[in-house]
Amino acid sequence: MIQNIAVAGAGISGMSTAYILQQKGYSVTIFAKAFSPSITSNKAAAFWFPYHVRNDQRGIEWCNTSYEYYKEFMSTPEAGISMHQLLKVLRKDIEEEEPVWKQFLPPGSFSEVPDSKLPKGMAKIYDVQVPLIETQLFLPWLSHQLQEKGVQLIEQELPYFDDLSAKYDLVVNCTALGSRHLCEDDTIIPVRGQVALLAPGPALPIYLDNEKPLYVVPRKDAIIVGGTFEPNEIAEVTEPHRIEQILHNAYEIFPQLKQQAMLGSWAGLRPHRPDVRLEAEPGKNIVHNYGHGGSGFTLAFGCAESVGRLVDEWQ
Ligand SMILES: Cc1cc2nc3c(=O)[nH]c(=O)nc-3n(C[C@H](O)[C@H](O)[C@H](O)COP(=O)(O)OP(=O)(O)OC[C@H]3O[C@@H](n4cnc5c(N)ncnc54)[C@H](O)[C@@H]3O)c2cc1C
Repeated sequence: MIQNIAVAGAGISGMSTAYILQQKGYSVTIFAKAFSPSITSNKAAAFWFPYHVRNDQRGIEWCNTSYEYYKEFMSTPEAGISMHQLLKVLRKDIEEEEPVWKQFLPPGSFSEVPDSKLPKGMAKIYDVQVPLIETQLFLPWLSHQLQEKGVQLIEQELPYFDDLSAKYDLVVNCTALGSRHLCEDDTIIPVRGQVALLAPGPALPIYLDNEKPLYVVPRKDAIIVGGTFEPNEIAEVTEPHRIEQILHNAYEIFPQLKQQAMLGSWAGLRPHRPDVRLEAEPGKNIVHNYGHGGSGFTLAFGCAESVGRLVDEWQ
């Protein structure tokens, strides 16, 4: 019988998994090399959007479930989550597939800007209501919730899973890029994202142009302006010429941003994998939940529920 569970990793994947498992009545301990704010999850923008999520039933359910969780968390202001307008643009000169991600949204939260109202050069604009997750508020809040409910947080770098596997009934692996070594999985790679931070102020929608790529995310502490998509870049540093280009792209769309002081910049490494690995490892007491790429927040609570079901059904 499963009672004591070790979760490896304290990013959004590990913390959401611990949250669901604790709710189900399991005794949970999180082991991690680093905690918020020193993890990739703190570098996310972070709004709900299925970015490079495989369009299968599993992906749809994960995104829908997470959307519902964030809506529920919104009733607690300290959690730092709000519903926000997102404009997803499609330029005329760019071929892009139909927005299959429509299926990931609850009814009534999606519409298209009429052709007559499209600015020059735009083929389509999708107008969507999405949760905006302020990582600087949500991650400490979630960590606090876990600790209040008895989840233990232990700082430890794991060279392998054997010791945890022997000591706990089950191990859930949420180590993202750490799984490259821990699972000898070469299919997970870092994809660097660089962003600039501008002083908060003007009321703006979230703006997303995946092709450029450009996104503008108005948080309470800063307007996050991104970004880049740089496979296999492992240095978590920003480059001045990239940041300049990102800001140039943003000023073209929102000239008013030129008035906002620049507060800084950061880079984060997305744990990109062709698809999320969420499965039990045959013959071992390990469940994997890693490889969420640029959609870790969008998928987190849906994936955590899937882990919960696997654990409940464990023989
Ligand atoms: C610039 C940028 C913008 C983004 N914007 C969005 C967005 O708008 N929406 C969205 O949904 N997603 C976004 N993402 C993606 C999102 O940030 C990631 O998918 C998500 O943070 C991954 O979470 P995770 O918990 O799997 O990994 P991480 O946050 O990387 O956590 C991994 C954990 O595992 C631990 N660990 C690793 N190896 C070991 C080891 N050997 N021993 C012990 N512990 C270990 C780490 O210390 C850490 O605690 C963005 C990412 C970037 C970089």
